[in-house]
Amino acid sequence: MAISVPSRQLFIDGEWKVPVHNNRIPIINPATEDIIGDIPAGTKEDIDLAVDAAKRALSRNKGRDWSSASASVRAGYLRAIASKITEKKDELGKLEAIDSGKPLDEALADLDDVIACFNYYAELAEGLDAKQKAPVSLPMETFKSYILKEPIGVVALITPWNYPLLMATWKVAPALAAGCAAILKPSELASVTCLELAEVCREVNLPPGVLNVVTGLGNDAGAPLASHPDVDKVAFTGSSLTGSKIMSAAAQLTKPVSLELGGKSPIVVFEDVDLDKTAEWTIFGCFFTNGQICSATSRLIVHESIATEFVDKLVKWAKNIKISDPLEEGCRLGPIVSEGQYKKVLNFISTAKSEGATILTGGSRPEHLKRGYFVEPTIISDVTTSMQIWREEVFGPVLSVKTFSTEEEAIELANDTQYGLGSAVMSKDLERCERISQAIKAGIVWINCAQPSFIQAPWGGIKRSGFGRELGEWGLENYLSVKQVTKYISDEQWGWYQPPSKL
Ligand code: NAD
Repeated sequence: MAISVPSRQLFIDGEWKVPVHNNRIPIINPATEDIIGDIPAGTKEDIDLAVDAAKRALSRNKGRDWSSASASVRAGYLRAIASKITEKKDELGKLEAIDSGKPLDEALADLDDVIACFNYYAELAEGLDAKQKAPVSLPMETFKSYILKEPIGVVALITPWNYPLLMATWKVAPALAAGCAAILKPSELASVTCLELAEVCREVNLPPGVLNVVTGLGNDAGAPLASHPDVDKVAFTGSSLTGSKIMSAAAQLTKPVSLELGGKSPIVVFEDVDLDKTAEWTIFGCFFTNGQICSATSRLIVHESIATEFVDKLVKWAKNIKISDPLEEGCRLGPIVSEGQYKKVLNFISTAKSEGATILTGGSRPEHLKRGYFVEPTIISDVTTSMQIWREEVFGPVLSVKTFSTEEEAIELANDTQYGLGSAVMSKDLERCERISQAIKAGIVWINCAQPSFIQAPWGGIKRSGFGRELGEWGLENYLSVKQVTKYISDEQWGWYQPPSKL
């Protein structure tokens, strides 16, 4: 199953370019701790070149090649990208697995979503032309008004490592569908498949500069991109801390931003559930993607009458999860993405212990894996609402448990967080589920499941989880600006001023 990581450069203006400072960043396979290649380390100088290339792509041939081309032309490129990725799916899946630590089955499922996402936005692009010049009804017959939807311009797309190619695609596909030109800055911890996306764009002859991929560190490449005066919008997915830095940088130039940030999402389990079905969703909601999901339902709020039996079941389900090298068949939990993140997760667990919480299962490296940044699926009880483990995003396979006795108490516990991304409610009483859905303050509520995400449905958070929505038609609107065109159609003089006397 050996697979080697292609050696790539920065992708700027349709070509591979050695970074101006000619530095590279090692790629570490988190399952083996081996260095398996390196990525180019872009800096401000490379960002300047990429932004210039994107500007040229928008204005080339007076925009007719891209930004003001018929949206169906752009749809053709998106479909070509989707079909190239389909051809390369197996190879890309393995690259994603060894770069990010994601189990291969998950990486392949992500690729299905990537392909579907490019095709979906191709379809929305095709519908865009028909929506141009939508009339606006006005109260005066002497005027007519219509709406043009135009690409925002040059967009900076800054993405994290947990779904490296998928998170990039959630931005690249709608940005290109809208007619923007983009600079993608993936996470330095997992950039391999984003560089392969660049290769795909080269192979389908995407016009030069429409998509540029500049890898590098956050401070060296991400920060100059976010603050570049010729970037018209920043779309960011990542931590709340970086999100606020990006917002500050963008504020200096009153640049629009959309932010998909972290979370500490609740899952509320009522007493009437099917215990095994709910146990599996609870485990999936927190331990999928090695626990590194922004919307991980990592705070379990369970009714006190079933808590002991339910948590016993959870422990059994957790112990049964296959933890292995992501390429091993049947793997369901791979390593944490990097040594730094691994230590952070273990620190969260030891702080929880020192604050008086009880580790019911997990809490350390699995015995059978001597190398790699593996952490067992961990379930923690005896948690108070003031503990760090209850309040802060761990971004690893750690579930904390609290009990409740009344619906009001469950809602209060669920909403007692600075975040508002995901949430789940589990009960056979669907009216109750609807009530809770309205009461929970979050951008997403799952009923009797946790985590499934669909390209057609809006994704995003409230409070410190950010603002703006990706996916669906909302994802496309992120990259369009709305222009009103209003015509005066009367033959009459406007008549506000006294006409000058005719001499
Ligand atoms: P991060 O904030 O450390 O990095 C994200 C990206 O920002 C990377 O590309 C990084 O290089 C870049 N960056 C870092 N500093 C920067 C700066 N000063 N200016 C510009 N760019 C900078 O986040 P991460 O560790 O890669 O990802 C994990 C976080 O992402 C978690 O908090 C998770 O919840 C969040 N996330 C959210 C969603 C969502 O949809 N809401 C999805 C996935 C991940």
